[in-house]
Amino acid sequence: MATDAGPADGEVLLAARGLTKSYAGADGELPVLAGIDLEVRAGEIVALLGRSGSGKSTLLRCLAGLIPASSGTVTYRGRPLDGANPGTAMVFQTFALLPWLTVQQNVELGLEARGVPARARATAALQAIDLIGLDGFESAYPKELSGGMRQRVGFARALVVEPDVLMMDEPFSALDVLTAENLRGELMELWASGQFPTRAVVLVTHNIEEAVLMADRVVVLGSRPGSLKAAFDVPMTHPRDRGAPGFGA
Ligand code: ADP
Ligand code: MG
Repeated sequence: MATDAGPADGEVLLAARGLTKSYAGADGELPVLAGIDLEVRAGEIVALLGRSGSGKSTLLRCLAGLIPASSGTVTYRGRPLDGANPGTAMVFQTFALLPWLTVQQNVELGLEARGVPARARATAALQAIDLIGLDGFESAYPKELSGGMRQRVGFARALVVEPDVLMMDEPFSALDVLTAENLRGELMELWASGQFPTRAVVLVTHNIEEAVLMADRVVVLGSRPGSLKAAFDVPMTHPRDRGAPGFGA
């Protein structure tokens, strides 16, 4: 969460330098990421594309400080990470909601972890719930909601902490095509409207169309062990710049 005036457009928010990651396995170390250099700047949506097993989730978790790198560095606004990245919040593929908590309680979780007092938590959570289109469902439990609505809770829980960088790990791939398309469009509208202060998005996906439609820049992760294979700017006018949800329109 930004504590000052907040990052200006173009400021490097996240940077990985020579990032490698291996997991310890039964047959020794499994190298997953090999020497990743990547920057994420304020004002941009970066899509991280690669086939299953290429290390997308691993890279995202390293950038979010949820797991440590084996070597190399990850910085947030120039400062090396020491544990969870304070500038990021994560949306997961399978929502990761706690089934015994209500929508509002799930959304408040991230604020609780950051020591926000109860009354301020409730106010912020209700705002986020409203913004993401779940008004009236504050007291519902996850099992009472459709997949699309559950993922809306996932988005509200991430956005409520006002992260500088929103990290999304295949957030639409567990949803049916229409639900995914609606949620994508709404999210882009929300991003365009400036109603939440998030300054950059990292979207992990294996869907090329989704990457190109949503992102300003696409980074492709090669396999075994993953290094950056290609990176390109998306050259066409962005839906965000047209100020329209206009997905595919
Ligand atoms: P992707 O998200 O691109 O599908 P992942 O980052 O999930 O890729 O996984 C990359 C590789 O690392 C895969 O071979 C996977 O089996 C392995 N892997 C991921 N997480 C762990 C873990 N916690 N322990 C051991 N191996 C892991
Ligand atoms: Mg993954």
